[in-house]
Amino acid sequence: MAYNEWVEKHAKKHKSIVQKLVKQGYDKEKIIDYFDFENMKEKEFDFCPLYAKNKKCHELESLNCYLCSCPNFRFNDEGIQKVEEKTQYSFCDIDSKDGRQGVYGEKIHQDCSGCGVPHHRAYVEKHFDFDWAKIMKVCKV
Ligand code: SF4
Repeated sequence: MAYNEWVEKHAKKHKSIVQKLVKQGYDKEKIIDYFDFENMKEKEFDFCPLYAKNKKCHELESLNCYLCSCPNFRFNDEGIQKVEEKTQYSFCDIDSKDGRQGVYGEKIHQDCSGCGVPHHRAYVEKHFDFDWAKIMKVCKV
């Protein structure tokens, strides 16, 4: 699945959960609590394919799923630039020391597997918006 397609599908799932919670009177703090991995895997089984395996995308003791993917991620499914003979499709806007550029044949993608930045509660609090798509709008370049 192209990244853009994933973003559009994920935005719909995210929105329907947030709308449901707002209707129930949840405020920002309670919504962030709700998006904790341990709660989400029980209550929102379809939100992430890893929930079925009881597996976290990053080995953090407390992992919050509100900002999956990451506001610092930049991508273009058509390619951003040529790097020598390869095409770069994504990168990290803050050049996190825990991320890296992965080379997969002719393609270069940002590899975030070692970086937990968007999954920390403090980060979610700082970048929170009820509309996930609005937060992630900057990602497509
Ligand atoms: S490396 Fe970390 S901060 Fe950068 S885009 Fe990936 S998850 Fe976000």
